[in-house]
Amino acid sequence: MAALSKAGAALAALRMDLAGEVFAPGDPGYDRARAVFNARIDRRPAVIAQCAGRADVVRAVRFARELDLKIAVRGGGHSVAGMAVNDNGLVVDLRRMHGVTVCPGSATVRVEGGALMSHLDRATQPHGLATTGGRTSTVGVGGFVLGGGGGWLDRVFGRAVDNLLGVELVTADGGTVHASAEENPELFWALHGGGGNFGVATALTLRLHELPEFSVALVTFPPERGPDAIRLYRELIAAGPPEASGAVLHLTGRPPPFLPVRRVGPPLCGALITYAGGEDDLRGLVRPLLALPHTSRFLTAMPYAELQCLFDDPPGMRAHWSAEYLTHLPDQLVDVLGARFRTMPAPMACRQLLFPLRTALGSEPRRYPVPQRDATWAVHPFAQWADPADDARAVQWVADVHSGVRPWRTGAVRVGLVGDEGRDRVVAGLSTESLDRLARVKRRYDPDNVFRYNHNIPPA
Ligand SMILES: Cc1cc2nc3c(=O)[nH]c(=O)nc-3n(C[C@H](O)[C@H](O)[C@H](O)COP(=O)(O)OP(=O)(O)OC[C@H]3O[C@@H](n4cnc5c(N)ncnc54)[C@H](O)[C@@H]3O)c2cc1C
Repeated sequence: MAALSKAGAALAALRMDLAGEVFAPGDPGYDRARAVFNARIDRRPAVIAQCAGRADVVRAVRFARELDLKIAVRGGGHSVAGMAVNDNGLVVDLRRMHGVTVCPGSATVRVEGGALMSHLDRATQPHGLATTGGRTSTVGVGGFVLGGGGGWLDRVFGRAVDNLLGVELVTADGGTVHASAEENPELFWALHGGGGNFGVATALTLRLHELPEFSVALVTFPPERGPDAIRLYRELIAAGPPEASGAVLHLTGRPPPFLPVRRVGPPLCGALITYAGGEDDLRGLVRPLLALPHTSRFLTAMPYAELQCLFDDPPGMRAHWSAEYLTHLPDQLVDVLGARFRTMPAPMACRQLLFPLRTALGSEPRRYPVPQRDATWAVHPFAQWADPADDARAVQWVADVHSGVRPWRTGAVRVGLVGDEGRDRVVAGLSTESLDRLARVKRRYDPDNVFRYNHNIPPA
């Protein structure tokens, strides 16, 4: 029998050693294992190591270093640019590592590096506890938190990074390190927005908050009423408590499942108010919106974990999205958003989302390498479609939203909400002053830039 090549022998050994599973081209299940949220991404890694625990991650990183393979790290696979997979390299796939341990006594939770929002929310909900999560249940906790992380609860509990208490990391040399305010504080600071640049997070510890009640309202309007609804929503959020959040939704395609509207296609404008409190208080908050002529209303108490699933997307769709932070929301910008709403490509599923941010941050000192402090709103154009022939149309619409809001953007953006948009956008996400410091941390923990499938911070 011919001697195995070095790579073949190393792969055979990896298959033997891993408690999880290994996929290489030709293996049954390989194509399923390489697919990510965005169906436009079609990359063919040399090896996918589905790790079952930290020891597997260490083994996989050492395997890649031995063979000089590029490494991509996969959490929930939701990066728009498909940073979770590469061509001809190794994917450290964390999907099997989704354990969640809640400690109600200390109001903390330990989440394994591949857990999704659904794993986190389902585990904390029975304790009446929650922490800021992404706005769908399928997003990976690791990529979301390390990229900054904002969601329905961020106005009241802070962004995800504000709740980060510790990270267990496998580093580029195959070693392990724990980062917290007490241990390796500089690395801990860098992990608050620096993403997967410093290693593979095998577990994260997050602060939890009491959330005994949660409720949600969605009022939809005829498209021509959209600008009135946004203006009213703006006033309502400005005057309301931080417990109130949500989004202005401009949608085409499949409507949210709880609405009486079933037909796919006609554009829909909605004001969504999420409320970290009871239904009666929420009813009072949304009263002014209900005074506008509207097409449907929905208001109910609902467990937070349930809301998290309401906007889940069907798998296998092509996607493109981006985001921009806004200084304020003047009437002129409301009109621009109304105009972009009218040009949303149909019948594909597009969303133009306008999120209120946590306004108190403007007065807080910059503690972490994530922006937002002077932003009050974020706009998030998000397109999904099935037919590759629609790629250009969808990408163009996202670009049009961008150029339309340019006069009001702060220039900053959370990197987790953008794809591969060039160096300037990484600087916009992390700031020039933070980047110098981040690059020094990178030099210490990953001098060879082994972890570069991300919003990359080259080592100083
Ligand atoms: C439908 C949808 C809804 C979203 N909603 C929100 C939202 O409400 N708020 C928000 O802030 N963002 C949101 N996002 C953006 C999302 O937070 C980012 O795309 C995030 O990076 C996704 O993380 P992931 O683990 O799912 O993705 P992946 O593609 O697996 O990973 C993204 C990046 O993070 C790195 N990474 C992931 N896990 C780890 C880990 N354990 N250790 C080290 N590096 C890791 C990866 O290597 C990669 O570079 C949403 C995205 C989608 C598609």
